[in-house]
Amino acid sequence: MKRFIVTGGYGFIGSSLIKLLLKKNFKVINIDKLSYSAQKYNLRGITSKNYIFIKIDINNKKKILKVLRKYKPHGIFNLAADTHVDRSISDSSNFIKNNILGVYNLLEVIKNYKKKIRLVHISTDEVYGDIIGTKKSNENFPYTPSSPYSASKASADHLVNAYVRTHKIDAVISNCSNNYGPRQHPEKLIPKMIYNILNNKPLPIYSKGRNLREWIYVTDHCDALIKLFFKGRSGEKYNIGSGINCTNIFLVKKILKSFKNKKIKIGKKVKILFVKDRPGHDFRYALNSNKIKKKLKWKPKINLNQGISKTVDWY
Ligand code: NAD
Repeated sequence: MKRFIVTGGYGFIGSSLIKLLLKKNFKVINIDKLSYSAQKYNLRGITSKNYIFIKIDINNKKKILKVLRKYKPHGIFNLAADTHVDRSISDSSNFIKNNILGVYNLLEVIKNYKKKIRLVHISTDEVYGDIIGTKKSNENFPYTPSSPYSASKASADHLVNAYVRTHKIDAVISNCSNNYGPRQHPEKLIPKMIYNILNNKPLPIYSKGRNLREWIYVTDHCDALIKLFFKGRSGEKYNIGSGINCTNIFLVKKILKSFKNKKIKIGKKVKILFVKDRPGHDFRYALNSNKIKKKLKWKPKINLNQGISKTVDWY
């Protein structure tokens, strides 16, 4: 039976990945330091004997090495990170600590462990920066991150590549687009809109809502991550995107429509409210995900209407 460490397993994507790994009968060791974005209810009700949670900060090399020696996992999915761009603008310190130093520490542990283990490091499409016009970023696109968050993720990706080349560790990197689905922290766009609709509050959108993002349903991302563990080539990067690009305003209108279709009452105070733009806000992200589709035969299964409907139902 394959054994995996998932770091950041009480977060949005980590909890979804853990559920999927357990469904496939793998053993999972969830390592999470339980920051503000960790939610214990994300994994409520899991009684599987294949699941263990250990509270550790990925910066704690000693403890992580102890876990590796004890459980001898085949792989580590690293999702432990600080992830909210706005927070990285108001204070970057946790982003440097968790997203850069944390990854450096994980890499050092893997280097010193010296046994066969594969790291699947979860990065983001934001490392490519603003994608102007109609272009799409493939895996050879230069990194031009715009926010402290994306810069911290880009730094970590470079460290992973350097450890693969210099220390011959086995690692693959995923660059995924915006995720959505159940269990996401309400500070992020989609859950925030749903939460505000449910609570009869205005719907704040940056600038005029024209920024374009590519949206992927969280389980489609998790499927791809498992593929990367089994089939990805060491030292390579894989973009993971749905190809579904839309403006924020289109998305918010779609959420409102989903409420209407479900005949959920919408209060009078629920109105789109354009707010001052985020500093350095990237206008557009768009991934070329042909590599994972062609080489690993992965494709997303959930379209935007289905995904939004499932997400609204959960909240
Ligand atoms: P999240 O904020 O929901 O969860 C992050 C988890 O990591 C939390 O449970 C937190 O406690 C834990 N954590 C943070 N620092 C830690 C540390 N030092 N040691 C141990 N645990 C720590 O985040 P998410 O949205 O699930 O994102 C997971 C990963 O996926 C991140 O690396 C993020 O950059 C990447 N990603 C996210 C998206 C998205 O749209 N959410 C898109 C692409 C990539």
